[in-house]
Amino acid sequence: DGVIWLDGEMVPWREAKTHVLTHTLHYGLGCFEGVRAYNAENGTSIFRLKEHTDRLFNSAHILNMKMPFTKDEINEAQRAAVRENNLEEAYLRPMVFLGSEGMGLRAENLKVHVMVAAWSWPSYMSPEAKELGIKVRTSSYTRHHVNITMCKAKANGNYINSMLALNEAISGGAEEALLLDNEGYVAEGSGENIFIVRNGELHTPELTSCLAGITRATIIDFAKDLGLVVKERRITRDEVYIAEEAFFTGTAAEVLPIRELDGRQIGEGKRGPITEKLQQMYFDAVKGKLAQ
Ligand code: PMP
Repeated sequence: DGVIWLDGEMVPWREAKTHVLTHTLHYGLGCFEGVRAYNAENGTSIFRLKEHTDRLFNSAHILNMKMPFTKDEINEAQRAAVRENNLEEAYLRPMVFLGSEGMGLRAENLKVHVMVAAWSWPSYMSPEAKELGIKVRTSSYTRHHVNITMCKAKANGNYINSMLALNEAISGGAEEALLLDNEGYVAEGSGENIFIVRNGELHTPELTSCLAGITRATIIDFAKDLGLVVKERRITRDEVYIAEEAFFTGTAAEVLPIRELDGRQIGEGKRGPITEKLQQMYFDAVKGKLAQ
């Protein structure tokens, strides 16, 4: 039940369909966002809406897809999707995809469609995971060339590696995967950025092989507010093993402690004090208790 915003109109959930010859379904050229609305102090609020919409437009631009709507229209579509589905907390999924007017890589004049769906998806990870941390495995899948040179796009096709990596991690008894880049440096999780604490400083991979996460940017700001030294640099796999603390960040995962990588305990093997502090600041911010 409910409604989905599709190409400028609200349509009933069951009728928001696309043809089997949808170009993006075949070749994967498309982009999307993952956004969250929280039940905040002054009513429901979409966290970092502007940043997500900006990134969606950047993704479309990188992929050479011409957005048929303005940013204001897409912002309003997201607000309407939450409102018209009567959601207090929601996960929002805007997506830009190519229509079914032609097949083949040379197809021209394909229509650019935009949709925004919203649904209730309160907890991505178990509440215990947020406190105790998760087990992670380094993946045999790496961020490949397109992923890396185009990693500022949240592109549909970039998620093939993420899904294979996550499946591999879960079937190997872990809860999340850590992907390395082409050269073997730490890149990110399947849908999260990674941070480590070393000598009391916060380190995270520079934006050369990972998505420019909006949660990542928020956490960097908070850490600076706390007076922590923040370094964006190349990180090796063994530095994660010997880190004092490690955690993932993402719209879905929020701030998620990592307690183990490849069977090596990280720090005390539980959520560390810096992770806990930043996690608390994040939860306060999404609930509107901190200036945003
Ligand atoms: N990396 C990848 C590959 C992702 O899919 C996501 C989720 N969008 C992130 C990092 C985290 O980004 P954000 O904090 O903007 O959700």
